[in-house]
Amino acid sequence: MTGSRFPRPPNLTPDLPPWGVVARETMDFFLPVPSRITDTMSGIDWEDEDPFEDQRDEIENPMRRLFGEYGSDYKLPVSVGIVASAFARILDLLPPLMLGVAIDAVFLETVPYHEAFPFGGDLIRSVAPGTQEGQFWFTIAIVAGAFLFGAIFHWTRNWGFNSFAQNIQHDVRTDTYDKMQRLNMDFFADKQTGEMMSVLSNDVNRLERFLNDGMNSLFRMSVMIVAIGVVLFAFNWQLALVALVPVPLIALFTYVFIKIIQPKYAEVRSTVGKVNSRLENNVGGIKVIKSSTTEDYESDRVDDVSFGYLEANWDAIRTRIKFFPGLRLIAGLGFAITFIVGGLWVLRGTAPGPLTGNLREGTFVVFIIYTQRFIWPMAQFGQIINMYQRARASSARIFGLMDEPHRVAEAEGATELDIADGTVEYDDVTFGYGDEPVVEDIDFVVGSGETVALVGPTGAGKSTVLKLLLRLYDVDDGVIRVDGTDIRETTIRSLRQSMGYVSQDTYLFYGTVEQNITYGTFDATREEVVEAAKMAEAHAFVQNLPDGYDTEVGERGVKLSGGQRQRLSIARAILRDPDILILDEATSDVDTETEMLIQRSIDELAANRTTFAIAHRLSTIKDADEILVLEDGQIAERGTHTDLLDNDGLYAHLWGVQAGEIDELPQEFIERAARRQARTDADDD
Ligand code: ADP
Repeated sequence: MTGSRFPRPPNLTPDLPPWGVVARETMDFFLPVPSRITDTMSGIDWEDEDPFEDQRDEIENPMRRLFGEYGSDYKLPVSVGIVASAFARILDLLPPLMLGVAIDAVFLETVPYHEAFPFGGDLIRSVAPGTQEGQFWFTIAIVAGAFLFGAIFHWTRNWGFNSFAQNIQHDVRTDTYDKMQRLNMDFFADKQTGEMMSVLSNDVNRLERFLNDGMNSLFRMSVMIVAIGVVLFAFNWQLALVALVPVPLIALFTYVFIKIIQPKYAEVRSTVGKVNSRLENNVGGIKVIKSSTTEDYESDRVDDVSFGYLEANWDAIRTRIKFFPGLRLIAGLGFAITFIVGGLWVLRGTAPGPLTGNLREGTFVVFIIYTQRFIWPMAQFGQIINMYQRARASSARIFGLMDEPHRVAEAEGATELDIADGTVEYDDVTFGYGDEPVVEDIDFVVGSGETVALVGPTGAGKSTVLKLLLRLYDVDDGVIRVDGTDIRETTIRSLRQSMGYVSQDTYLFYGTVEQNITYGTFDATREEVVEAAKMAEAHAFVQNLPDGYDTEVGERGVKLSGGQRQRLSIARAILRDPDILILDEATSDVDTETEMLIQRSIDELAANRTTFAIAHRLSTIKDADEILVLEDGQIAERGTHTDLLDNDGLYAHLWGVQAGEIDELPQEFIERAARRQARTDADDD
């Protein structure tokens, strides 16, 4: 169906304006915006879901804050940039001025050399040669000097502004990243990571555009306008007024253009987001597409969104390609008016109409050249405002993230946790992610070197209990103590360093197998790594990888199975040798045979340290010193394996099903599970 509905334009290459700044700015509109992609996929309107909105609303002047907090370290480069920019522009204007001077004073000799200048006549008289040819070479020397020094100042200006922009961008990026790492875990829920990535990449990068190109253009434009204005008025204020007639017209035209084009660009951005999310969805779901043979259906859907993008883009292009010819027309009008009035003035030797005084040929030439140079900077003004607004919005988003308060904060005078025997005590702990408690009245003690197991249905709150120990969240009520110390009174770093965490979904960083095992214990030797891998039953498969311990793994490396990743994570914990071990479904992803092997090493690892284990397969925790059965966030049963079997409650029945002794749970438990499931589903809605 491609090509059937729309008179496709012959060439969609955008008609880019003649200067770099505008070109880059314009291109930006065609780049994808990741936050939108993620959000469109999840069907969420990001404006409503924006996690940093509250803080952002309180930021009064983000650009002032940006310059205040980050710009002050780089005053030197930016000052150098501003000064050099001014000089560079003034030097750029010298050659046409000297041409005018030469015409009047050297070639036509209508005026003495020093009087041909709009100002500084006395100085010129004292330095310029007296002969006609001497004055000619003097003029050439000034022009040559203007080009030479102009080049030096251009270089200096670029150095200054680029150095300013790059350094600020780097500082903002690293600060935002540092802050991101310290955000509460809530922020890492799926729907918010897209927004966070967008702040970290798009918004930070967008600052550079204004800080470099935008500021550079702003100063260049200001200097040009002031310098040209001063020279023209000094030469002949009456003709200067005539020459400036098109200026308000250009300002109005540019303003109207920006008003019209902005919503069109917004539409382009939104359609780009739709195209990307559709493509991403389809690449991710290719298995389903193939197996349901819906290729044609999906091709049509891609065609639809892509066509939407084409239409939106073409609409913007239609407006944009009218702008520059329009601007040329106005510039041409200005040129014609100046040419006619100035030309008649020179031709007749008297001022036309109500004008008075006289106009020299050389001055007329300077007017013609300068008025042309005036037009383009004026047209750029709208782009600079646009860039400024975007940088301001990005700064607000960046500071919105930076001002996010910590939910888990370090106490004043927090002490280093130095574990002696590793007793952990939960004293009537209650906690909820929102207003409703998720775990309630959790009360137990794990003695030094003991193992406590947490079992129970999904959503019962097992992981939450352990997240509280790691202080990913703070308790709402009650206290958790390690060796008798409230964990809120210790430093977060020392607390987490004393714990080893092996979870059900192990993330591997891009790097080698060895780097992944030594992650957090960076000084381990190869022998120690191999020893840990052997204990975790990982050595055999690692040896079979193409480069053994030096094999690249992670997102861009060799893909490992869930069970293999889990064993690397166990090896990581073994190497770390923590005081307290947390096993969150540590063997969930391995087959029964490997599990038996790993279990042996885990038992060894857990032997002399305080251990928390969450497990669905009850066989893996039956030897625990105490088993806590959680249901709906509360401890429903507790005791050793034998105690619980005698108790004949939920645990005993789950055990029966898993051990194959009974076929299914009694009706009472199934009904309870169904009720719970329905409740969870309702919560999710
Ligand atoms: P379990 O480990 O027993 O499967 P969890 O501790 O993961 O249970 O979850 C307990 C309850 O808390 C569930 O209802 C779950 O949906 C909810 N929950 C877990 N994490 C979060 C979170 N970050 N924000 C809000 N609710 C959460």
